[in-house]
Parts: sequence; C-alpha cells; structure tokens
Amino acid sequence: MAEKIYLSSPHMSDEGFEMDYIKEAFATNWIAPLGPNVNEFEKEFAVKVGAKYAAAVNTGTAAIHLALRAVGVSEGDIVFCPSLTFSATVNPIIYEKAIPVFIDSDEDTWNMCPIALEAAFLKYPQVKAVIVVHLYGLSADMDKIMAICNHHGVTVIEDAAESLGTLYKGRQTGTFGEYGVFSFNGNKIITTSGGGMLVSDNQERIEKVRFWSTQSRDSARHYQHSELGFNYRMSNISAGIGRGQLKVLDQRIAKKKYIFQFYKQELEKLPGIQFMPINHWNEPNYWLSCITLDGSIKPLEIIEALEGENIESRPLWKPMHQQPFFEWCDFIGGIVSEKLFNSGLCLPSDTKMTDSDQKRICQIIKGL
Ligand SMILES: *Cc1c(COP(=O)(O)O)cnc(C)c1O
Repeated sequence: MAEKIYLSSPHMSDEGFEMDYIKEAFATNWIAPLGPNVNEFEKEFAVKVGAKYAAAVNTGTAAIHLALRAVGVSEGDIVFCPSLTFSATVNPIIYEKAIPVFIDSDEDTWNMCPIALEAAFLKYPQVKAVIVVHLYGLSADMDKIMAICNHHGVTVIEDAAESLGTLYKGRQTGTFGEYGVFSFNGNKIITTSGGGMLVSDNQERIEKVRFWSTQSRDSARHYQHSELGFNYRMSNISAGIGRGQLKVLDQRIAKKKYIFQFYKQELEKLPGIQFMPINHWNEPNYWLSCITLDGSIKPLEIIEALEGENIESRPLWKPMHQQPFFEWCDFIGGIVSEKLFNSGLCLPSDTKMTDSDQKRICQIIKGL
C-alpha cells in the first residue's frame, strides 16, 4: 500500500534550523524549562505577528486558560465563544467554573456570526469575555465583532490556534483582541511538538501570565506563594524547535495556499462541491483545505474512500452545542454551524504532499 498521506503532520525545515537550536541547548545544558530559546522565541514571535509582548506556554489550551484568568473570568461568569470550534476553546472556561454561551457561525466566514453575537449581548449583557476563533486559517469578520464588543466594553480573546500568519485587512489575526492565543501542536501550521503562545500589548498582564505559568513564585529566596500557580511554561527544547519553525512559516503558508488552489482547480467543477469562503479582506494561512457538499456525495463517503487508500481526512468540527458534555449550555443562533458540520470535510493538507499525491486524492474523489 502507498505511504500514508496525513491531514497535516509536522514538517521540519530542510535546513535543519530546529536541530541547530536543540544542539545549542544540549551543548549549554539548557534542557530545563525556561532558558534562552524561550526568551528569544517570545521576542521573535511577537515581532512576527506584530504584538508587543508574548508568553510561551506548553499548550494552546494553557494559553487560553491563562488569558481567561488575565481577564479575571471566574466562577459563574458568562463567556461567549463560537459553537463551531475545537473543544480546547471551551474547556478552559469550565476549568474556571465559568459558563460558556455558544454563538452560531456566519455562512460567509464559517466563524462567529456578528448578528448572533449581538443577540447574545441582548440576552446576557453581563458577559465577561468573548473568545473569537479563526477556524482553518480563515479569519472572523473582526471589524464587526470588535465594534460590537467595544460598544459593550467587553474584552476579546482571539483563539488564533489555527490561523498563525492569517491576515485580516493586512493585520495578523491574534492581534485584534486584548489577548491572542496560538498553538504549536503537532498538526498546526508550525509545531514545537506541543506548545502555545499568548500575545498582548499589555505588558503587566503578560508578566503576570509568565508568573502564573511558573507556579506563582513570589520573589523570595524560600518558596513563597500568594497566588494559585500553574506549571504551564514552555521548555527550552520546544522553544528551539519553535524558533526554527518560525523561519519557515512563510514557506508553509505558501505551500498550504498552493494545496488549496490545486484542489480548487481540480475539483471546483464537480456538482455540489463548495470551497471554504475566502473573503476579499482575508489572506488566510490555508491551514486546512475544507469543502462542503450539497449534492449526492456525502462527506463520509469521501472520508471512507480516502481512508481505504491510507489517506487521512476528517469532518469539520462538531458544534459544541451538540456535544453531550456541553448539552446544558445555551446556544444563540440558527443552523449554520450544524449545517457546516453535516456537509463539510477537511481534505488532506499536509505540506509534504507532492502534486502526484494530490492528483491521486482528486482522482479518488472524482471517481465517487
Ligand atoms: C489546536 C487548537 C487549540 C488548542 O491547542 P493545543 O496546543 O492543542 O492545546 C485551541 N483552539 C483551536 C481552535 C485549536 O484548533
């Protein structure tokens, strides 16, 4: 059987940048958490996305958790977030015993619907924070969403875990809200094998986040704590991988875009197939190439046909308001996220794919 094609797998630089940083860490015995790679990765990352400050942590989920704490979200507070997302967006709300309210998607962006968001503010004017997500590297309509949130004076956290490098009107996603969150999990556009970053222009809050992420140690010789702490800091080895990966981010985005355009050219004419929406104000990172189907072919047929050829694809995220664990939560909106889930899928988007890999994938789909 042909070698497996992945949805999106780690892709280290041809130049070996990552290994150079790791070797340096070994040579200087900076194997521990913290160290020079962590500090440099934070600086380089902040410059890349155009944020003032960044705190490197061990997962994107931890970055969301600390962002919520930085906003001051606590027990009983309401937090709005999109229903169509990965559960990692929502779980940290539960860690703090706060209450998620799910917002429907906008058909034109697949992300948080501004109209549903307005309706949610009417119902829950006491809301404490809004988490906006940029799914699959597409950006949410930030002008509209920021205008609504600013009007109500509510803090925005951007979950840009899937959208590193995506531009909205020329500006990087993750820099519109008070806080931006990124992930370097193995399947993301760049990876540190596992890791996350929290960015903000608020220096005091970022320093606080670093403090919390290293067990909230007060500055005393003995171990003294006046606040709850977490062990969330990124390791110096992971940060070395991240510094190397950051150098090839633009290359990865270019390849992801090429993959999307290849599929579009090959498959666009199939009846009932639609590609994810690319708005004129959006320059996506094309993390995953996604489609929806409204004809006779069902997403599961494509997923199973590809699986039979050792090729990985997957459905779109299942909406949070349809998850057993979040059944008790309120949902504001209509049936857009549900429709996307029922009709959509993510095509293999691995940057190591060749043209002939993609041709083969398209042949399988056309053959159905
Ligand atoms: C991957 C992801 C996260 C979480 O990142 P981890 O680094 O895996 O903890 C959060 N939100 C979204 C939308 C993601 O895709």
